[in-house]
Amino acid sequence: MENKKELRTWLDDYGLDHPLVIAGPCSAETEEQILTIAHQLKDSDATILRAGIWKPRTRPGNFEGVGALGLKWLQRAKEETGLMITTEVANANHVDLALKHDVDVLWIGARTTVSPFIVQEIADALKGTDKPVLVKNPVNPDLSLWLGAVERFHTADIKNIGVIHRGFSTYEKTRYRNNPEWQLAIDLQNRFPDLPLILDPSHIAGKRDIIFDLCQTALDLNYDGLMVETHHDPNNAWSDAAQQITPANLIKYMDDLKVRLESGEAAEFNNKINTFRTQIDVIDHQLIEMLGKRMIVADDIGTLKKEHNVAVLQTKRWNEILGKMILQGDERNLSEEFILRVFKAIHQESINHQEEIINH
Ligand code: PEP
Ligand code: MN
Repeated sequence: MENKKELRTWLDDYGLDHPLVIAGPCSAETEEQILTIAHQLKDSDATILRAGIWKPRTRPGNFEGVGALGLKWLQRAKEETGLMITTEVANANHVDLALKHDVDVLWIGARTTVSPFIVQEIADALKGTDKPVLVKNPVNPDLSLWLGAVERFHTADIKNIGVIHRGFSTYEKTRYRNNPEWQLAIDLQNRFPDLPLILDPSHIAGKRDIIFDLCQTALDLNYDGLMVETHHDPNNAWSDAAQQITPANLIKYMDDLKVRLESGEAAEFNNKINTFRTQIDVIDHQLIEMLGKRMIVADDIGTLKKEHNVAVLQTKRWNEILGKMILQGDERNLSEEFILRVFKAIHQESINHQEEIINH
């Protein structure tokens, strides 16, 4: 990972605008579908057409992709529209077929990134080519696994690498299909600022209505591009119907999104301050989520105390908590006074909740 600059420049070499926009259906379904979408995307900011040919499905029995046949449709779409094309490859045979069909950019799916054996097999199959590879984050929030996959391609001498942030699986149900865990992508960006970072809002959202906001957050965090699932008839898509948007909507979104100015001293300052502010927003959001979770546990304690007729305030326990928090705060450069104030406020809110429970 030492030659980070090398990683960055390929976007410029490809003459790709900021932000890079990749759009197209979750899956290639028919030749007509691919051509219809590709032609509708010609008027958009998208420069690369995406479509899954081999679909990794979590459960068997769902549509598993049209297979190599779809590569011919993508090639035809490229000839007719001038869009570049990209698809997911999940083994050496896929790589071979994609190269034969002149696929411009390859992406590695979230279920592949988790498997070092398969990533290595794909990296070996790509050795000696100059194909750009975009590595999706693994399904689980593990930054090393994500970076490990990037390193395998880097070691195989693949010069043009980027990463796609598509969110992470959680056991707990959230408003997202895959939780964004922005902090993880921010950490990656801080450690490897030259690694192109692309957001896939579609697989994070799982449904159309939050895609725009996710895209705006990504641009505010200075992401380099977006990969948006786009279908001419989303409701009747053969996979991921709820999260696809029409090309017309993509065009509207791109018009409405605020993209940062890229040069000039003032623009640079604005970029930086906006990125920091968005990072703060992400963290504040996490703080509230965590406080909400803490309060649910406090409520459960309240119910238990009510059942066993125990007093709300347990002074000994509270003093123990505070002592630990002050020590931990000190390690993070947070003053004792601040920790006391914050935890007194949190504790008071818990007591209010518990009193409410006990008195009703
Ligand atoms: C996809 O992009 O269609 C896909 C299957 O994505 P992921 O690997 O992120 O689930
Ligand atoms: Mn999909």
